[in-house]
Amino acid sequence: MKIELFDTTLRDGTQGEGINLSIQDKLLITQKLDNYGIDIIEGGWPGSNPKDEEYFKSVKKLKLSHSKICAFGSTARYPDKIKEDNNLQALLKAETEILSVFGKTWKFHSSKSLGLSDSENEELIFNSVKFLSEAGRRVIFDAEHFFDGYKDDPEFAVKMLLAAENAGASTLVLCDTNGGTLPTEILNIIQAVKSKVNLPIGIHAHNDSGVGVANSIMAVEAGARHVQGTINGVGERSGNANLCGIIPILKLKMSCSFNDQLDITKTTYTSHFISEIMNLEPDNRAPFVGISSFAHKGGIHVSSVLKDSRMYEHIDPSLVGNLQRVVVSDLSGQSNIRYKAKEFGIELPSGREFSKNFVNYLKTMEYDGYQFDGAEGTFELLLRSELKEYEPFFNVKYAKINVLQDENNIHYSEAVLKIEVNGEIEHTAADGIGPVNALDTSLRKALTRFFPVIDQIKLVDYKVRVLGDKNGTKAKVRVLIESTDGESNWSTVGVSENIIEASLMALTDAMNYKLFKAMLVKKDANLGTTILN
Ligand SMILES: [Zn+2]
Repeated sequence: MKIELFDTTLRDGTQGEGINLSIQDKLLITQKLDNYGIDIIEGGWPGSNPKDEEYFKSVKKLKLSHSKICAFGSTARYPDKIKEDNNLQALLKAETEILSVFGKTWKFHSSKSLGLSDSENEELIFNSVKFLSEAGRRVIFDAEHFFDGYKDDPEFAVKMLLAAENAGASTLVLCDTNGGTLPTEILNIIQAVKSKVNLPIGIHAHNDSGVGVANSIMAVEAGARHVQGTINGVGERSGNANLCGIIPILKLKMSCSFNDQLDITKTTYTSHFISEIMNLEPDNRAPFVGISSFAHKGGIHVSSVLKDSRMYEHIDPSLVGNLQRVVVSDLSGQSNIRYKAKEFGIELPSGREFSKNFVNYLKTMEYDGYQFDGAEGTFELLLRSELKEYEPFFNVKYAKINVLQDENNIHYSEAVLKIEVNGEIEHTAADGIGPVNALDTSLRKALTRFFPVIDQIKLVDYKVRVLGDKNGTKAKVRVLIESTDGESNWSTVGVSENIIEASLMALTDAMNYKLFKAMLVKKDANLGTTILN
């Protein structure tokens, strides 16, 4: 069975709380969706706001390889004033090949909210769809509140679908607008409706009951051939059905077919890219695309996964562009360490002695508050240091931080550092926006003379976690820092009762990590020297 994919991230998705996209953002997302292989991209509601109108103008200039753009809108307001209806006019002005038009299919709504008789509502749908399809557009009819409407008055709901069908619509999309319908109801209702209409049926599910993906899957099971949803399930309230779950399930578990352009190995990338553009924290536990979706922590699990990943993974993660990860944690077994070492390209001594000792060493550190899940840079340095492959490139001999806030509300932070490199002392001071920034700036200033490569490092993320809740301001903190040199990112960690000290530990690891990597590159290039510049 071939499924048509309809993405509404840019329309229904932007109704989600905290989501605000510029036109440029929307265009970038459009390109990524095209690149992923989505058939139809619903770009917005041109009748509702000027930003969406602007989007439809700009999107015409994009060169899309596969996706078709669709504009969204409602049926006309009055059945006898179709041609003059502003909303329908705005839809035509968007100049898209495809239009999706929603109409009321729940009697409760059409009579209560619009005050229309059954035949007036039917006429409204028929006339609006006819007008748009006669203008040469493919019209997708969104049957709003269809499942609630069907449960309330099936005859009325189906009659409205037939009005759209008879007026020239191409697809009848059954919407679970309130998201309260359950998978078995979806299955039964679609099976019943299928015999009463001729057009292909589509599904538009919301996730209010946590079954948005399940409902979409059930709809396909029942015969739907057009599926609507959003990337990462963004959308109002609890969101829309998540295409990043639906697409892999349909393709990998139900053998559905899609257009040839769809590349499901781009699912994870597309999901993360769009989270980034939306400035949303990605959901680590999201099925298929989360960074924890194929992460293994327990020692016994890991040793089995290393033998054959099918033992603890429902699919091969690479099929959706994700990765198997072994998480380093207090559950670490020796196989985790061996796995990690392999990932870093480190050869461990034969026999079990080394990894056993290293596991014990990690356990003590974890007991002290360290956590290496998000700090693989520090972890790698620790491992290499135990193997005598690495020694810090510099020592911080002295650090003093001055923080001032005066009565005029002037803030000031300064860091003074003494650094030792090969017996030579560098004494620097720098100020910054806050103490950690001052420390970072001062450290770079001190090190650049010895290691110009330090200039490439940028701090991209800084997180502080208070450990335990008993000691108030005396509690230990864990500082996680993510750094980049433009090519790769690495993360490092520091733990202390003193937030400045924890930050300094994470910062020195971040610098040492880069210096170590630069040294490896030099060695690889066989320049016969390990001087870094
Ligand atoms: Zn919706």
